[in-house]
Amino acid sequence: MTLKLYNTLTRKKETFKPIKKGHAGLYTCGPTVYDFAHIGNFRAYICGDILKRYLKYKGFKVNHVMNITDVDDKIIKGSRQKNKPLNKFTKEYTEAFFEDLEKLNINKADFSPKATEHIKEMVVIIKKLLDKKIAYKAKDGIYFDISKFKDYGKLSHVKLEELEIGKRIKADQYEKEQAQDFALWKFWDKDDGDVFWETDIGKGRPGWHIECSAMSTKYLGQPFDIHGGGIDLVFPHHENEMAQTEAATGKKFVNYWFHNEHLLVNGRKMSKSLGNFFTLRDLFNKGYNANAIRYLLLSVHYRQQLNFTEESVKAAENAIQRLNDFVVKLKSIKNTNKKIPPNKKIKPIIEDTRKNFEKEMDDDLNISNALAVVFELVKKINTLIMENKIGKKDAEDIYGLMRDFDSVLGVLETKEEKVSVEIQKLVKEREKARKEKDWNQADKLRDEIKEKGFEVKDTSEGSVLGKV
Ligand SMILES: [Zn+2]
Repeated sequence: MTLKLYNTLTRKKETFKPIKKGHAGLYTCGPTVYDFAHIGNFRAYICGDILKRYLKYKGFKVNHVMNITDVDDKIIKGSRQKNKPLNKFTKEYTEAFFEDLEKLNINKADFSPKATEHIKEMVVIIKKLLDKKIAYKAKDGIYFDISKFKDYGKLSHVKLEELEIGKRIKADQYEKEQAQDFALWKFWDKDDGDVFWETDIGKGRPGWHIECSAMSTKYLGQPFDIHGGGIDLVFPHHENEMAQTEAATGKKFVNYWFHNEHLLVNGRKMSKSLGNFFTLRDLFNKGYNANAIRYLLLSVHYRQQLNFTEESVKAAENAIQRLNDFVVKLKSIKNTNKKIPPNKKIKPIIEDTRKNFEKEMDDDLNISNALAVVFELVKKINTLIMENKIGKKDAEDIYGLMRDFDSVLGVLETKEEKVSVEIQKLVKEREKARKEKDWNQADKLRDEIKEKGFEVKDTSEGSVLGKV
């Protein structure tokens, strides 16, 4: 089956057709490293992670690039306030960002290029735009003239009718949904301190948008397959990225635009003044568990708003507990010696479940429905386990299915404990002793196994081994 994704550019669900068969080039906008990322940011990174993991599940070879914005207005302000050199200031937050990704089990990108290491590439694009007279020099910088690019507004549908020619905006981020000429390059002024590059186009530093154009096309070519990010980036950031790249080269920039909706906290937009603004670290300090946060952030369809509340984290914790209990049960049946013949029902259940999971995920990553499919399986199999109708082979197959699903979800504790031959031998000896009702010997062996870090439990399905 083919994957369908909603494309912000066309406002339609479209079948994903990669440029190169079996490959997918993915660019997602990374952090601006002037502070710790907040959970709204992490929703975007999780949505990108689910997309990437599902593409891999479907057999695509994914090349994922996520930039690090390590120079912009906020960073310069922050580093000056803290009286630290720019690179030292950004290094701390970059490292913190990667730590946070790891905690949430978000797979790292194949490339994480830094803006400050790609100034040359940005200058090349800006020069092209100057040559084509699409960009112009003003007193404080070089600007992109949006009236020269006829497709301006095609991604965000931003208002163009009241366009005042030559109205300029220098700031990297602006919320007013009105088209304006934007800065590609900012000439040095005293507020920049020692942050500047001496280049052919003058002494200064890049605007934010040009960074992503330069780094995405450098590592993925042009056009490339998928560009992702939070919905708040559609305008002006992505609109501007697209305009400047397409204007410079005359080629299409990106085939599919993937945007996730906002995260709300207690039903309201996160803001420092409302006291509902959280970094991941804040949540850990409140005692929340990383796995539950991951589950919550991935469990709502990416194009729906997600409401983050204390109750929703609790519900996520419970959901993960159910999944993990199920997996533990499967593991113990897998390792049991009790003979239950293979159940004929299992093969069709596994096939149907896999098919339904994929059907939902293929439909624009309908994760909430896909999770419902997984829980349906848990319910069905739990009933069969209670009825003593799941044997070793069945448990192995179902466990395999859960592991496949988890290659997308990334929330289960599926790491196999390696049980050495020596311990297996001790378990067998102990079973023999039990059969012969030699309880002393059986207890002795149990202690010996425990010393080696494993615990034997005697269940109705035979003896089961677990980590102490
Ligand atoms: Zn970007």
